[in-house]
Amino acid sequence: AYRKGGYHAVRPGDQFCGGRYIAQRKLGWGHFSTVWLAFDKETSRFVALKIQKSAPEFAGAAMHEIEFLTAIAQGDPSNSKCIIQLLDHFKHSGPNGQHICLVFEFLGDSLLRLIKYNRYKGIGLSKVKEICKWVLLGLDYLHRELGIIHTDLKPENILLVSTIDPSKDPIRSNATPMLERPEGGLNGCTVSSTIERNLKRKAKRAVAKISARRESMEGISENKKSLEEIDMRCKIVDFGNACWADQQFAEAVQTRQYRAPEVILGAGYSFSVDMWSLACIAFELATGDMLFIPKGGHGYDEDEDHLALMMELLGKMPRKIAISGCHSKDLFDRHGDLKRIRRLKYWPLDKLLVDKYKFPESDAREFAEFLCPLLDFAPEKRPTSAECLKHPWLNSQDPKPIDDKKDIGLQKVEVGMSKLRV
Ligand code: ATP
Ligand code: MG
Ligand code: MG
Repeated sequence: AYRKGGYHAVRPGDQFCGGRYIAQRKLGWGHFSTVWLAFDKETSRFVALKIQKSAPEFAGAAMHEIEFLTAIAQGDPSNSKCIIQLLDHFKHSGPNGQHICLVFEFLGDSLLRLIKYNRYKGIGLSKVKEICKWVLLGLDYLHRELGIIHTDLKPENILLVSTIDPSKDPIRSNATPMLERPEGGLNGCTVSSTIERNLKRKAKRAVAKISARRESMEGISENKKSLEEIDMRCKIVDFGNACWADQQFAEAVQTRQYRAPEVILGAGYSFSVDMWSLACIAFELATGDMLFIPKGGHGYDEDEDHLALMMELLGKMPRKIAISGCHSKDLFDRHGDLKRIRRLKYWPLDKLLVDKYKFPESDAREFAEFLCPLLDFAPEKRPTSAECLKHPWLNSQDPKPIDDKKDIGLQKVEVGMSKLRV
């Protein structure tokens, strides 16, 4: 992908925007871009630099993202609404073309890494609650104040707020930023091609070693932090697929596993698709497993399996809803039953949590009481973020003492909420 129209190759020490930003190390990558930790010489702080692929469709996508990020930043000057903040953007010309670059505040690992870090065992309900609160604050801002639907909420697109010094990289033990490209070696232009090949091989081995060490979470291994100590503050990122609720265009939105039923049915969608995804994410954080993993099979496709899985968990979809989309005729018969998957095994969420994931019954029941309304087949019945924030499950602490007096309960609510007003 490092060719004309594709990614821009970056080396540590490379300069951007007339020398203002200095690349330090790669943080991640996606279909559209590579993301680098960079040092901003003007503000003397570390930032995340997203360098988009250069082909016109990628440039268009970056402009789209900038439109939303600009509105988000303008409406949140104090940067307290749990959404990634765009600091700057500019164009950068390289051998593969002109790349739109976005400069963000530097954040930490994604929730996906958090799930992996905990070996897919689930992170505990009190942490799930805390994360849900932050994400709900972000969604409330997006939905109610701005009229934006994210449409691609998933663990990868929620990043923890980093509490570590970004310059503390395993490669370099010093904490000072690199201000220019190191001389010689891989980056020099004088080494012959055989030497360069050898160096590359060596570098590859070193990178493998480093990434093995990084299997534990960034910044956590060094400080020997346990999961208990990680601040669960997080922010919503990746507005590449966001849309204004009053001017949608894409029909097929959301990443498969987090997709709401109305999107599969082609029945139109609104803010509540993000609420559906949030429920899928909360389940995944709590159990380490995705809530729905649809697969095509003999005689049925992924969409049909997905709808069948939903109904096995949530009960039969009301006929009126089942027949309401432009794809309904291919999927359902006139009684509102799936045409090609006839036998469903009902396994409700609270039972699933107890039977498969060994949750204590009261935990399972309370968690299911929070999640099930978000997974309502009727999109307009799903609670809004503001309503969710008031839900008792979010404002109770674990484990619950047996004879919990009411006034103590209230005190706990205040403690829980005060954390959100930092
Ligand atoms: P996608 O295919 O997911 O749309 P993309 O090319 O649009 O990818 P992003 O998802 O925005 O790129 O970013 C790619 C990765 O870079 C993220 O998954 C994350 O690991 C890392 N990253 C992005 N923004 C930041 C940030 N502000 N701080 C730290 N890391 C970041
Ligand atoms: Mg992404
Ligand atoms: Mg994206």
